[in-house]
Amino acid sequence: MDLLDTLTAKGLRGEVPTREEALAVLATTDDELLDVVAAAGKVRRRWFGRRVKLNYLVNLKSGLCPEDCSYCSQRLGSKAEILKYTWLKPDQAADAARAGVAGGAKRVCLVASGRGPTDRDIDRVTDTMAAIKDADPEVEICVCLGLLSDNQAERLKAAGADAYNHNLNTSEGTYGDIATTHTYADRVDTVQKAHGAGLSACSGLIAGMGESDEDLVDVVFALRELGSDSVPVNFLIPFEGTPLAKEWNLSPQRCLRILAMVRFVNPDTEVRIAGGREVHLRSMQPLGLHIANSIFLGDYLTSEGQAGQADLDMIKDAGFEVEGAGEATLPRHRADVAEAAAGGGCGTAASACGSGGGCGPCGGHAHGAEAASPEAVAPQTQDGDELRSDLVKVRRRGAGTELAPNA
Ligand code: SF4
Repeated sequence: MDLLDTLTAKGLRGEVPTREEALAVLATTDDELLDVVAAAGKVRRRWFGRRVKLNYLVNLKSGLCPEDCSYCSQRLGSKAEILKYTWLKPDQAADAARAGVAGGAKRVCLVASGRGPTDRDIDRVTDTMAAIKDADPEVEICVCLGLLSDNQAERLKAAGADAYNHNLNTSEGTYGDIATTHTYADRVDTVQKAHGAGLSACSGLIAGMGESDEDLVDVVFALRELGSDSVPVNFLIPFEGTPLAKEWNLSPQRCLRILAMVRFVNPDTEVRIAGGREVHLRSMQPLGLHIANSIFLGDYLTSEGQAGQADLDMIKDAGFEVEGAGEATLPRHRADVAEAAAGGGCGTAASACGSGGGCGPCGGHAHGAEAASPEAVAPQTQDGDELRSDLVKVRRRGAGTELAPNA
């Protein structure tokens, strides 16, 4: 297939495809799907070998957000029955982080709901990072606190943060359809502030919100131009109790095509499968590892992932290996570009945190996971997409609970 030969050749050289080529990946058929995965896999192995970077989420503050991001279970007016709690204490967050690192995570992602941090919140996160790095100085820390004001990125960098996550989520043209309390430009500004302060920039997208192929390509090219070192690809988890509860638009095949398109446009950038991995890729998750080089270990912000041990078993069974603390994530030439863009700052060759909403991979729905009756016909949306709300499970363990974290 000429398209895949072209994309592979470009990817191996670290070149970005044309917009038309990216759109063509999304338009491939199921008969072509394994060829698409194989082509993206060649590019992935060229720059990242068979390594899989594990990232671990700690939800520092859950729910009760004043913003109205329609995909998010923590949004203003959300009826989703998620955990709601205010700031974890530094030792509580450090305990959760330690579980993730013990499970194999190289990076800890500290996330808090909200429009953006106050200066007092920056102090809290500073104390939390100190507690985590006291226990393990090698761990990478990515922070995700929403929109940043002047000098906050610099303060986080000085306090030891390695990266900052803030997702663009969707195209500029459709951003107003998913949130009205802030703009796409606000999001771009925060990614630029983080990058400018020497933090590794992590910024990604959410697929499955009803967007067009053109929207997906727009946001992925925008992320490349923005210089994101890490691109988390979230697959919408349609929460009961949010405006997008009925948006079940994704199949495992569609998810693989989207991941492949993201990989071709970001051949030498960390591509992370983020929220929605278990819900939408399902038994096809191992194929996703042939395209992406990074995943979250264990649970998400407000939903539960598969058992951490299942993540590790999947990686091993698929012939991949967990990336070690001493290994660089990004290829050297890409890390040099990132550091130069950040003013020579970061000091880590690795990239940033990923997340599902603006503030992290949410996930979960209101009433958890009642098992579907085996006799039942799988319910469908009006467009014929299968509703798999049976796979969505609200997080009830780990940070903010008395139960041990999943790692
Ligand atoms: S994505 Fe972030 S800013 Fe938007 S509603 Fe959720 S927690 Fe608030």
